[in-house]
Amino acid sequence: MEDIKKNLEAVQEKIRDAAESCGRKAEEVTLVAVSKTRNPEEINTAIDAGVTDIGENKVQEIMDKFEAIKPVKWHMIGHLQTNKVKYIIDKVDMIHSVDSMKLAKEINKRAAQHEKTMDILVQINPAQEESKFGVSIDGAEELVREILANCENIRIKGLMSVAPIVENMRDVKPYFDGVKAKYDELKNIDDPKLDFEYLSMGMSGDFPVAIEAGSNLVRVGSAIFGERDYEAYRREQEAKKNGNA
Ligand SMILES: *Cc1c(COP(=O)(O)O)cnc(C)c1O
Repeated sequence: MEDIKKNLEAVQEKIRDAAESCGRKAEEVTLVAVSKTRNPEEINTAIDAGVTDIGENKVQEIMDKFEAIKPVKWHMIGHLQTNKVKYIIDKVDMIHSVDSMKLAKEINKRAAQHEKTMDILVQINPAQEESKFGVSIDGAEELVREILANCENIRIKGLMSVAPIVENMRDVKPYFDGVKAKYDELKNIDDPKLDFEYLSMGMSGDFPVAIEAGSNLVRVGSAIFGERDYEAYRREQEAKKNGNA
């Protein structure tokens, strides 16, 4: 637990360095602490240490932890199935992973039922990797315009992207640059439901490069919480279900 605070400080310092090295301010960069596989105690430790935003990539984990977590902003950053939107629509503050009209329509419908407007990011898959979700850079405008035309209860707050895994951190820069260029283009679309504020790029392995490329929201997990152990998390949940926790 001591480590979480120290790690967080180290990440915050790296964010500051990266921002200042390109003439920006650290305060312009939102840090989302990615808490997947982490238990409420660990997450609350991070919140006590200053974390204001947390990110989860599974609906089930959001539901498991929601009640036990101190007040914080929740970000859904993982692939979202349409049939699960209803479980998180009243819990999360922003959905980063919108990459189809089908998903946008479902979010819109559920948001309307809750009489709210949902903030979303459109997810871009800049290297067109089969293994990753997201629309192509070239396909982004069409999806953005279609959402604006059809979804009264969605506000598009920007773009999100996960870069390919590369050996050298610097090799992701061109992908981030490509997403940033598209962001700068789309932010000029004149529509009250489009209010670009976030370019969500950068994880533990590449956030300094992402910031250099113009990211203003980084999603950092293992650099704060340590390496993830999916199996241990699964066992912990099993034990809880069986009342042995
Ligand atoms: C897990 C995850 C992260 C954080 O990854 P780390 O390498 O642990 O920082 C960021 N974004 C998404 C979409 C993730 O699923």
